[in-house]
Amino acid sequence: MTSPLTITGLSKRYGGVAVVDGVDLAIAPGQCHGLLGPNGAGKTTTLRLALGLIEADAGEIRLLGHKMPEGGRAARARVGVVPQVDSLDPDFTVRENLFAYGRYFGLDRAEVEARVPGLLDFAGLAGKADARVPSLSGGMKRRLTLARALINDPDLVVLDEPTTGLDPQARHLVWQGLRRLTARGKTLLLTTHFMDEAERLCDRISIIDKGRIIVEGSPRELIRSHIEPQVVEVYGEALADWRVCAQDLCKRCETAGETLFCYTDNPDPVIAELDKQPELRYLHRPANLEDVFLKLTGRDLRD
Ligand code: ADP
Repeated sequence: MTSPLTITGLSKRYGGVAVVDGVDLAIAPGQCHGLLGPNGAGKTTTLRLALGLIEADAGEIRLLGHKMPEGGRAARARVGVVPQVDSLDPDFTVRENLFAYGRYFGLDRAEVEARVPGLLDFAGLAGKADARVPSLSGGMKRRLTLARALINDPDLVVLDEPTTGLDPQARHLVWQGLRRLTARGKTLLLTTHFMDEAERLCDRISIIDKGRIIVEGSPRELIRSHIEPQVVEVYGEALADWRVCAQDLCKRCETAGETLFCYTDNPDPVIAELDKQPELRYLHRPANLEDVFLKLTGRDLRD
């Protein structure tokens, strides 16, 4: 099967600044591909270019076999989009929102009618079909937005921060929904600021910074090749005095706020020393995608 989305040498400038700067991306069919990056990295612009909503200065995009932006209309008919902010119609019920979106895609009523029960089931909203949008919880609204994006039975679903603002229970339900989509052969392109979400859902990840893809790989590959395997997070009043000792015991130390992150292959000597320091607290854990992300994109605030 060919890639649902391939991007080659994509560039876009705003006011003389390269916001997307030579991006290459190929998404494998049936996979969840994560596009991660700090604020302002160029993620949304890349997605908008890929969907043919804005025009590139250079580069080539093929979306579901169509050259973009010329083939935008035909390609977008096979794409579902879950935007960052819910744009549900508050005057409509859950069911009416699905119908309104179906009309937007030019689907006939019988076709939408046949799809709605399955979508309500998928979103866990079968009992809420006649509820109006303002009466739904945040999690239900997100799940409705996800169900709505599937009304045209898309091959590719683009999700821009699908779980921002949700409580942990609602996030788990959305994750379950997304995994069901890839199990059905759909391809997902996801942006998120939650590294645990990306690690859990994505088969492949591209990290973008300052308009360029800086690394790409599976979460496991990225962790294995870019970071020491063990981390000891240390915090407490006496941290400043202990920092020098940590530097001798670990491969690499980093400070973020009030926490010292000690990266190492073998945490035992660090833990043995920390156990002699009752005023310091620590947490020992395996390295994760957030460690990779922070190492590669830095710990400075971006906006
Ligand atoms: P991300 O989604 O990774 O946070 P964006 O793609 O939204 O990043 O933005 C990348 C950069 O491009 C930012 O500095 C943003 O201010 C700038 N930018 C995005 N859209 C426009 C626009 N329409 N006009 C001018 N600058 C823009």
